[in-house]
Amino acid sequence: MTYLLDALHARIGEFVALRRDIHQHPELAFEEHRTAALVADKLEGWGYAVTRGVGGTGVVGTLVRGSGSRRLGLRADMDALPIAEASGKAWTSQRPGLMHACGHDGHTAMLLAAARDLAEDPRFDGTLHLIFQPAEEGGGGALRMMEDGLFERFPCDAVFAMHNMPGVPQGHLVLRDGATMASSDYATITLTGVGGHGAMPQHAADPIVAAASLVMALQTVVSRNVDPLQAAVVTVGALNAGRANNVIPATATLELSVRALDRGVRELLEARIRALAQAQAQSFGVQAEVAWRRGYAVLVNTPAETALAREVALELVGAERVTLQGPPLTGSEDFAFMLERVPGSYLFVGNGDAPGNCMVHNPGYDFNDDNIAVGCAYWVLLARRFLVAEERAAA
Ligand SMILES: [Zn+2]
Ligand SMILES: [Zn+2]
Repeated sequence: MTYLLDALHARIGEFVALRRDIHQHPELAFEEHRTAALVADKLEGWGYAVTRGVGGTGVVGTLVRGSGSRRLGLRADMDALPIAEASGKAWTSQRPGLMHACGHDGHTAMLLAAARDLAEDPRFDGTLHLIFQPAEEGGGGALRMMEDGLFERFPCDAVFAMHNMPGVPQGHLVLRDGATMASSDYATITLTGVGGHGAMPQHAADPIVAAASLVMALQTVVSRNVDPLQAAVVTVGALNAGRANNVIPATATLELSVRALDRGVRELLEARIRALAQAQAQSFGVQAEVAWRRGYAVLVNTPAETALAREVALELVGAERVTLQGPPLTGSEDFAFMLERVPGSYLFVGNGDAPGNCMVHNPGYDFNDDNIAVGCAYWVLLARRFLVAEERAAA
């Protein structure tokens, strides 16, 4: 199928320029007004029925061909990060302190390139919904679009998404069936004791000692409570208390990042952390208050849709450039919410593995433009394979 890639390379220049234009104009979560307008205008120009303002700045482009009843959703993310760019590229961010450090500029360009190809040469039968979401970086833009009726207004039988992955050779495709990205929850534990003079601890209830003990106790959640064959992370990323050597403060706070690759483990982590916070606090004579905020869900790829994604990947780039079952990651992705509602599969495309290639969220990172053709071809082929005429699908 390399002819498809070769043919695309010749006509992808427009989308490289577009990607770099988006890169120069990064926008934070729910502020993707310029990007969303650019996406919507392009889609309208190619004949899509476009709905703007879905879940804030989200855009959905719909194209119907033939009489097929199948409906496919393809998702790209559009938001940037509050990072000052240091890539040194000619198309570096023109907005100080903001940059596309996660490649969402590239994801948007790939799906737009596919949108044009699918409009010009449909060769599919059914309904295609192209979903451009805001706020993947912590803002839960996917969830906002769903709360705004995404799947009621644009029903999909399956949804797919793609993310670039630095450290993997450019254009290699990494798939996985089952749990692929972790849930991500946030806990703030406030320990409240009785402040006092550092010389007279007997008149105080010291939250610092309780906090220190709690940090150590929390290490036992993963090592003693979680099944050793399951993955989980409990990180105390911030511990704040006190300002002076001779003052026992009244409060100490811990900020936790809590991650799991299984919905049951996720529940277990919360229950154990809450229980330990209370028990530890009680043993030191202080009060514990746990504020729990649920972040992104576990991202679970479904088997049938992942099987189709694998077929398409193999056809597109060949077995030597496809990892059929990659490792799960402890990072998170809000496409997980869409996969809780609709079957589908999320895959990675290698952003390059040359020395010095930056990881996402690094100030030196840049999306690899050679992947626009790969991503475009993957979406086009996937759409054609999924949205086949029913008599052929049944055969
Ligand atoms: Zn990111
Ligand atoms: Zn990202």
